[in-house]
Amino acid sequence: MKIPFLDLKLVNTPLFPEISEAFERVSASGWYILGPEVKAFETLFADYCESNFCVGTANGLDAIHLILKCFEFPEGSEIIVPANTYFATILAVIQAGYRPVFVEPLLSTYLIDPDKIEENITSSTRAVLVTELYGKSCELTSIKALCKKYHLKLISDSAQSHGALYKNQKSAGLVDAAAFSFYPTKNLGALGDGGAVVTNDRALANRIAERRNYGSSQKYHFAQKGLNSRLDELQAAILSLKLSRLDEENAKRRSIAKRYLTHINNPKIVLPPADTILEDAWHLFVVRTENREHFRKYLENAGIQSDIHYPIPPHQQKALEEFSYLTLPITEKIHLEVTSIPLNTYLSHEEINYIIVTLNQY
Ligand SMILES: *Cc1c(COP(=O)(O)O)cnc(C)c1O
Repeated sequence: MKIPFLDLKLVNTPLFPEISEAFERVSASGWYILGPEVKAFETLFADYCESNFCVGTANGLDAIHLILKCFEFPEGSEIIVPANTYFATILAVIQAGYRPVFVEPLLSTYLIDPDKIEENITSSTRAVLVTELYGKSCELTSIKALCKKYHLKLISDSAQSHGALYKNQKSAGLVDAAAFSFYPTKNLGALGDGGAVVTNDRALANRIAERRNYGSSQKYHFAQKGLNSRLDELQAAILSLKLSRLDEENAKRRSIAKRYLTHINNPKIVLPPADTILEDAWHLFVVRTENREHFRKYLENAGIQSDIHYPIPPHQQKALEEFSYLTLPITEKIHLEVTSIPLNTYLSHEEINYIIVTLNQY
């Protein structure tokens, strides 16, 4: 059996008739950037996230950047970030003119360790930026309490967690602002780039809506030094139709995750946490093994394609040489040991069984 890690064509094929319809509608409208389709998607997505406002952006990186910029923290402010995250989380902080303060994750969840946040707060700290890595929401109760105590904003990089719940509520609606990416591989993916900010803060939403459009809300008047980071009409139309399928697709992801967690029982393979199977968005199913190269070779020989999220932590990237002095052993261990196995919306019952049997025989 041959199982690719993710085949985006198979993800979108069932939607081709609806996508063509959206394409014709937008083509014929003559309005291609920031129009009625973007507005309609923003309303739908804010509702979906149980939040008041949504502002579409060109991508997820800009969504994080725009949140940070539009909170208008003083230059050089410290932002608490997870050391174990995708490079974009950190890059957004630096590009906004702030200093990332790296906090180690829990090995059991891969998410920022809530008990290590407080010791990293200084008089320059202005926000805690968490990442809902792999689709799992963070310990929001304790993190929110800390943010309240120290008057910090709580921001979420939710690029991997469309639809994730925390105690039965959408996690994105529980933070001061959440950033989403609609990169094609994400749980809600466009046919190109896209992103959004979701927030209950009206003033923040207005500043971001202005700043994504060069800093202009009145034609040829520029109130901020902004970005060109607009969501286009065609992607918005496609996202609206795909949003109506998201709950069903996340339910499928959860049921696959549940089967993996129930039936994979090999002491050589560390499974992801199973405490919130029905709340997580299961963007990725990530396991750990001591000898990753050997494990991935074994999977490859069995026809199962795997991937690594991620092989090199941000503080060890060439671009972030100024942080190369840091020693973050938990983050570094995770980056050496993780492998992502296929989990997507079109996997068949047989393919899932084959993956389970193959992992159990390792
Ligand atoms: C995908 C992703 C981003 C960046 O999104 P883009 O749309 O590619 O800019 C940021 N953070 C995380 C955790 C991601 O997975």
